[in-house]
Amino acid sequence: MPRTGSGPLPRFADLTTMRVGGQPARLLSPATELELVDAARTVWGSGEEWMLLGGGSNMVVSDEGFDGTVIRVLTRGVAVLATGAAADAEASASDRVRLRVQAGEPWDELVARTVAEGWSGLEALSGIPGSTGAAPVQNIGAYGQELSDSLVAIDFLDYETGVLRRIDAAELQLGYRTSALKQGLRGLVLAVELELHDTRAEASVLGSALSTPVAYPQLAGALGVQVGDRVPLGALRASVLALRGAKGMVLDAGDPDTNSAGSFFTNPIVSLAFSRTMPASAPRWPLTDPDPPDRVIPIEEYYGVGPVEDATPVPLVKLSAAWLIENSGISRGFRLPGSRAAISSKHSLALTNVGGATADEIGQLARFVQGRVQSEFGVILQPEPLLVGVTL
Ligand SMILES: Cc1cc2nc3c(=O)[nH]c(=O)nc-3n(C[C@H](O)[C@H](O)[C@H](O)COP(=O)(O)OP(=O)(O)OC[C@H]3O[C@@H](n4cnc5c(N)ncnc54)[C@H](O)[C@@H]3O)c2cc1C
Repeated sequence: MPRTGSGPLPRFADLTTMRVGGQPARLLSPATELELVDAARTVWGSGEEWMLLGGGSNMVVSDEGFDGTVIRVLTRGVAVLATGAAADAEASASDRVRLRVQAGEPWDELVARTVAEGWSGLEALSGIPGSTGAAPVQNIGAYGQELSDSLVAIDFLDYETGVLRRIDAAELQLGYRTSALKQGLRGLVLAVELELHDTRAEASVLGSALSTPVAYPQLAGALGVQVGDRVPLGALRASVLALRGAKGMVLDAGDPDTNSAGSFFTNPIVSLAFSRTMPASAPRWPLTDPDPPDRVIPIEEYYGVGPVEDATPVPLVKLSAAWLIENSGISRGFRLPGSRAAISSKHSLALTNVGGATADEIGQLARFVQGRVQSEFGVILQPEPLLVGVTL
């Protein structure tokens, strides 16, 4: 089985973007699909503890490390399965392209390639770190796009049965930063199948490959267009990267604000009745909206003022975790005394390692933030990353 060299094992501090955490007991680094399946089956058969690691951009591991085997997914490759008119001609008149992407393929390299090829559908997800195999785990999303918009299926090695099977996206319960893979379905994503719009024929007429309609007000503003407009793919990617860079959301070795796991907390989902107890200035929006609007929209604009609580299903509302944190008295750059864990100076939702922080310090800061928000607003923020040996 492929093992990592004979020297000392790397620490999670070297394997994750938060840059904290001790060593794993064992590390396997399979680089082909066959090796990956073999490694997983062998480790699972041994009965020892195991975990999967992609780019380490959505996990925080304790200073004690992990007493088990880490399978680090390094498989690479993008296969173009089909191009041409959509198989489901009623779905859209535009052409489609299907890709099968190996789990270890770096996500942003994939996005860059699709933009260069003139394939639209992933461009607003530019700059998200990590691997393609981890993308379905929390149904990555940003700037009005989510993986679920393009995901057709995954090839999955099931831990419970040992069986290799294809799971259609519709069966994955993809939602806001969640999926069946985060809710108990244990196993290994080997590859991801995506369907994108092949805009090249259109581009030969229009002179430029265009994005899917811009769905996020802040992005539309940055591009100088309206929500719903389409813009050149390259321009959209550049704009997303610039917006993300200004928030410390593009990995940058020179910027300690990017030593993070991205957003540390998810936006809380509450009942409409509870959301009405929030201060008037608190942003809130229906669960069905993909991302927070950049302005405070009175919830009545969506639901009116009537007794919609009687509606079935009960309307659910998202609150802004960033607003809750800032309005519980925690500002950007905040640190507990003597701690090397800080709220990002650019984005209040990111907990960062300013240099040499321990996982313990990250945990302390997270608990402090949670406690402040709970006592101010009665909302318990939930962590977005996988926590290994770190409890909030
Ligand atoms: C600066 C920054 C910005 C970010 N911005 C965003 C954003 O805008 N939107 C967003 O949604 N996320 C964002 N994230 C979070 C993160 O990048 C994504 O969740 C990403 O998909 C994680 O990929 P990874 O390979 O690093 O996963 P890892 O951190 O390695 O693993 C995450 C989880 O997936 C599991 N996993 C990994 N590979 C596999 C596999 N092949 N099969 C099954 N399970 C697997 C792991 O066991 C773990 O539970 C950001 C993170 C950072 C650091």
